[in-house]
Amino acid sequence: MDIVSQSSKLTLTDGNYHIQAVNVMEMCQEFGSPLFVYDANKIKEKYKQMANAFEGLNAKIKYPVKALSNLSILKLIKSLGGGLDTVSIQEARLGLMAGFEPKEIIFTPNCVSFEEIKKAVELGLTVNIDNISILEQFGHEYGNSIPCAIRFNPHIFAGGNTKISVGHIDSKFGISVYQRRHVQRIIKAHDIQVIGIHVHTGSDILDAASYLQSANIMFELAFEFEGLEFIDFGSGFKVPYKDDDIFTDVNSIGDQLRTAYLEFVKEYGKEVELWFEPGKYLVSESGYFFVRANVIKPTPSTVFVGVDSGLNHFIRPMMYGSFHDIVNVSNPGGIPRIYTIVGYICETDTFGWDRKLSEVREGDILCLKNAGAYGFSMSSNYNSRLRPAEVLVLDGKAKLIRERETFDDLLRGQVEIDI
Ligand SMILES: *Cc1c(COP(=O)(O)O)cnc(C)c1O
Repeated sequence: MDIVSQSSKLTLTDGNYHIQAVNVMEMCQEFGSPLFVYDANKIKEKYKQMANAFEGLNAKIKYPVKALSNLSILKLIKSLGGGLDTVSIQEARLGLMAGFEPKEIIFTPNCVSFEEIKKAVELGLTVNIDNISILEQFGHEYGNSIPCAIRFNPHIFAGGNTKISVGHIDSKFGISVYQRRHVQRIIKAHDIQVIGIHVHTGSDILDAASYLQSANIMFELAFEFEGLEFIDFGSGFKVPYKDDDIFTDVNSIGDQLRTAYLEFVKEYGKEVELWFEPGKYLVSESGYFFVRANVIKPTPSTVFVGVDSGLNHFIRPMMYGSFHDIVNVSNPGGIPRIYTIVGYICETDTFGWDRKLSEVREGDILCLKNAGAYGFSMSSNYNSRLRPAEVLVLDGKAKLIRERETFDDLLRGQVEIDI
């Protein structure tokens, strides 16, 4: 049985909502709104769940920085024993600042210049190569002096949203498994030392079977490489957004992977590490996004609640159609009514249609759940709005981990010329 708790850690006690022991209304008063809040306990819980599920697999967790890149979150991941998956030099630099060793950081960019790859080598990162052109340049530049990994595309469509599924035939990610002969020619010609192979087919693995399918392709592929140190299975771990949602059962994946892994090791003749890159899985449920109801606006079709935020701060609902449960934390005892919750950005900007919330009054604080992953990290200054503050609830205390932006932040870097 999977012990993944589907209930959120936003608890109602004595008529007030809490995260750990912190009263959320007091927190919103202290830090203002809109506000991103992360529950460190939830991240720890998810990390341990995954580590337990993958026991006996020589597993390493490489947290993808792009999901939530705050330095304090990276330090938390470091304290749990994780490494990092990065897609830009800047993410890698954040990781180094957070205390990670270069070797603990895998660098998996897509379509970057060879200059950026060289910088990654200078920093000592484990470079993961995603196209033949870069592989050739890498071989030409470094020969066998710098080991690297190769990202493959097994062309498995893992389900979910086409914007986040990256394993399909039209995908720009990875080197096609059908090009493996070409890859081998380049490796031989330049004597390239390949220590890892990688696959990331995108989000939303719904069942262990489709995961195993791509895992088996990787195990097979591994025999074409001598001296592998790791096989990186990327991510695709889905989290529940609604109470009855399908989510990835990591225990079942772990169990089935174990059989395949042990068999593989026997034949390969050497233990290799299995790497996993869970982003959403680790941080999505830890995050809460608090917004304030500015106006209640009845129209002929619905009652809109217009809040002090929008797709500039939290783009997932509009970009991916993701569902985020919304709770009115100001009025727990209110009569439930049906609302459409919208942002203040000047285009269609909906957080949730037809949601049953306890009666919303102007000034109430609403909470969007599952806002930890790709929330703040995808936020922008669109409409010249300022980005929210971020708070980490750690050991029962709310700690500010990013200040709210000010008007100066909008001006920074702008050069005003005489016109
Ligand atoms: C985005 C990304 C991930 C994380 O995906 P999630 O769905 O957040 O778990 C992992 N690996 C790579 C290479 C990625 O690009």
